[in-house]
Amino acid sequence: MPQASTNTTASSRDIGMDLGTANTLVYARGHGIVLNEPSVVAVKAGTTTALAVGTEAKETIGRTPGSITAIRPLKDGVICDYEAAEEMIRHFVRKAVPGRRPRTRMVVCVPSGVTPVERRAIVHASTRAGAKTVHLIEEPMAATIGGGTSEVAVISLGGIVTSRSLRVGGDRLDAAIMDYVRKEHSLLIGERTAENVKVAIGSAWPVPDRPELETLTFTVRGREKVGGMPKTLSLAAAEVRAALDEPVEAIIAAVRTALEECPPELSGDVMEHGIVLTGGGALLPGLDLRMTSATGIPVFVADNPLDCVALGSGRCVEDLDTLGGLPAPAKA
Ligand code: ADP
Ligand code: MG
Repeated sequence: MPQASTNTTASSRDIGMDLGTANTLVYARGHGIVLNEPSVVAVKAGTTTALAVGTEAKETIGRTPGSITAIRPLKDGVICDYEAAEEMIRHFVRKAVPGRRPRTRMVVCVPSGVTPVERRAIVHASTRAGAKTVHLIEEPMAATIGGGTSEVAVISLGGIVTSRSLRVGGDRLDAAIMDYVRKEHSLLIGERTAENVKVAIGSAWPVPDRPELETLTFTVRGREKVGGMPKTLSLAAAEVRAALDEPVEAIIAAVRTALEECPPELSGDVMEHGIVLTGGGALLPGLDLRMTSATGIPVFVADNPLDCVALGSGRCVEDLDTLGGLPAPAKA
């Protein structure tokens, strides 16, 4: 993170925000990505008083004492806890734009499936957090497969031709692992543990270049379903792949549908140029290969899948004065 400058220039007040279910990134005009933290707020139980936001708050998930509640204000890509979201946005804007923020202009990325009510909630929360104007841009412009939603979009000449937002993402993969371990091993594990399993040994398909993936194991700690005693268990990569099968298949099905809805003249372009995966989910080994196998189309993982959307919002922020192609500010 760059030093807070004492003479903040007008331009650096403008920010782009990738408000994600798992992570929020902020791009400051003229500076690049200045903030990247989990979308989590820790509050004092029974109140709305935030004790910690972001990285510090995520540490508390699943291990909070009774007096602290860890809240994830977004679910499936949209705000589900309004007050916590506002608190989180305010905190991140303050951190990214130190000093006075009287004229902050914001570009916020939203999943393409959001309803007008959800859009208004995001604009309202951003305005309350200090934004003078808020532009919403659709996330599939960066074709995201992220923690909250999987965005499948066919983008041509800078516009979205067809898009399909399905609410399956990283969280659903984590939940599938929790369900599997509960059903097959009678063990209850937390969502952070499930996420650790996914990142450490999860995969969607065999990867020829990485044979070691097939033999990995990961030890988890949980509580026995019956009796509640603590227990550790070694999970094998093959089991995790099987556990992830259903949500992965749902993502593939959405890609197929988007391809079917794609105008015939563009199908040829997609066949030729391929599909690009972005967002944290794109890092699941073998997702690209499985998608290629299912669609017959080349699939690539973006260079910085976790940063794509924020960088895309940054491109818009840098162009704010010319407003090339950017939608008018949204009304709260
Ligand atoms: P969002 O935009 O919804 O906040 P992100 O694009 O930030 O989501 O991606 C976060 C998701 O990516 C989380 O569900 C996280 O578990 C997942 N993720 C991160 N790294 C990996 C990995 N190596 N393999 C699989 N999933 C991953
Ligand atoms: Mg995202």
